[in-house]
Amino acid sequence: MRDFSLDHSALALNTATLGHNLDGYGAGWPPERVIDACAARGFGGIVFWRREIGNRAVHIGERVRASSMEVVGLCRTPYLVGSERPEQLIDEVKSSIDMSAELGAQVLTIVSGGTEPGTKGILDTQKIFAERVRAAAEYAALRDVKLAIEPLNPMFGGNRTCVMTVRDALRVCHWADAANVGVAVDVYHVWWDTTLAKSLEEAGGTRILGYHLCDWLETTRHMLLDRGMMGDGVADLKTIRAAVENAGYEGACEVEVFSAENWWKRDPNEVLDVLVERFRSVC
Ligand code: ZN
Repeated sequence: MRDFSLDHSALALNTATLGHNLDGYGAGWPPERVIDACAARGFGGIVFWRREIGNRAVHIGERVRASSMEVVGLCRTPYLVGSERPEQLIDEVKSSIDMSAELGAQVLTIVSGGTEPGTKGILDTQKIFAERVRAAAEYAALRDVKLAIEPLNPMFGGNRTCVMTVRDALRVCHWADAANVGVAVDVYHVWWDTTLAKSLEEAGGTRILGYHLCDWLETTRHMLLDRGMMGDGVADLKTIRAAVENAGYEGACEVEVFSAENWWKRDPNEVLDVLVERFRSVC
């Protein structure tokens, strides 16, 4: 297992940690300011959300690399299944893949969306989802983009996800049968799963395309927007990372803390300083 106590070059900022994933939250720093602040602190990379990028993907990607960092990922495709699926789904999926390619992002994240209208449970929806992932992967391969399916905590079943465990995500990968599709492992979504290490071992390092850090607060006040900073909750961070790395993952560790009532209200400079300190001490 890698030793981060004196080296945080694997640390990446997911800009959701500054509230940049939703309108009306956070300090609203432009990407350039985020890039400069992360570079000054020795971060290894950044993960952006599409809403921050607009039509400046090429410029922002070059700016990140000129600052000796990587664009570790882009969040995310629209939901591929479920009732909230956008009308122009195929066009929007393709444009998210195009944006990833222009940014030079290593991975584009997929959150599946919920149970498909007219079905019950999750397996029928997973099959439909896998077909759509396969179609997206064909286009992504042309643009040299990898797609990471992110399982969500089961409490997001119904309207946000049909993929609730790493095992579910691997099943979809198997059905989609595409070399450029894998899994993103997010502490918030998997911390409770006692079969995680075994699932990851079966996945193997090449299928694991991302590792997302935060913590699970003992008392969570809001399902989506009350994630904890690493060290403030009850997730066994070192054991989870050991499982991810034992499976062969050697990539970036991105911090993704959705926190409307706490971290999003703080000065981003303070938040970034805390990330470095916590990454080195508790992750
Ligand atoms: Zn995540």
